[in-house]
Amino acid sequence: IQNIGVLTSGGDSPGMNAAIRAVVRGSLYYKLKVTGILRGYDGLINADFFPMEGKSVANIIQRGGTILKTARCDEFRTPEGRAKAYKNLVESNIDALVVIGGDGTFTGADIFSQEYDFPIVGLPGTIDNDLEGTDLTIGYDTAINTVVNAVDKIRDTAESHDRLFIVEVMGRDSGLIALRSGIGVGAEAILIPEAKMTTEDLVERVEHGRKDKASKIIVVAEGDEAGGAYNVGEVLKEKFPHHDIRVSVLGHIQRGGSPSCADRVLASRLGVAAVEGLLAGKSKVMVGQINKEIVFTPFSKAIKHIDATQVTPAWLHLAEILSL
Ligand code: ATP
Repeated sequence: IQNIGVLTSGGDSPGMNAAIRAVVRGSLYYKLKVTGILRGYDGLINADFFPMEGKSVANIIQRGGTILKTARCDEFRTPEGRAKAYKNLVESNIDALVVIGGDGTFTGADIFSQEYDFPIVGLPGTIDNDLEGTDLTIGYDTAINTVVNAVDKIRDTAESHDRLFIVEVMGRDSGLIALRSGIGVGAEAILIPEAKMTTEDLVERVEHGRKDKASKIIVVAEGDEAGGAYNVGEVLKEKFPHHDIRVSVLGHIQRGGSPSCADRVLASRLGVAAVEGLLAGKSKVMVGQINKEIVFTPFSKAIKHIDATQVTPAWLHLAEILSL
């Protein structure tokens, strides 16, 4: 391997820049060329390539977002799109790829790598922490801390006005952001897809919950069956017309911001491990960290979400005990 291409794809996450930096620095350390690919698979199909040097990644470890930009690219889902991507890689003498993204990115990488026998290692860059093969994904720690900071502020005003706030956090398929941040902010209830708490259960809880505390925070994952914070708000407003009920959807602030030290260090370690993995002949794998050790997991397994949400009965039980 002589020239590694690096791209970020799918939803951005804080720490992607730290990962890019590590891939570039790692490649240069091993005397490899490294090529930046803009806008994920879109850039692969349109040959949006540029050579990267040490200085290309100076002063980015602390920055949110991704200097390589990211995109969703439908053309890469087609054999014709992937054929263009392969042609561009060959013409530019790029002989291996590091892709930074989530499960969609790895699904695409897996298909491409099998079609063309092309070496690819993936880095888990997503705030969702929904991948098998790593204890944490790059961006998750920052995202839950962003949620905790935001909800702490909401708690101040909820407390002053004796209000009940329903706060929606990201997580279309996984309630992990909601569960962890909900425990972190001392939420009175947490609604997540995995726990099957219905709005009736919630009404019950509000009705029979502590009477000595008028302010309440209910954290809802966007993918919960209740249909998001506004729906939950409507139900509660109808049932409790005398409560002051407000809804707050945190939205994209959860994706942005300067990465936490934990995310920077994880991204740095995994980025160098991806380069070393490629040099050791690894391909079609995601590099992750489990129990402090570097682990390579086949893409096909990483995207399976087996236990990946870590929403276990024990965690749900803990949340239940703490919310009373
Ligand atoms: P996040 O979970 O943070 O949103 P992601 O990597 O899962 O990140 P997606 O938008 O699902 O984000 O996927 C990123 C890109 O991967 C897609 O835009 C597409 O180009 C490619 N991709 C996804 N699924 C496939 C597939 N089945 N075949 C080929 N390419 C795919």
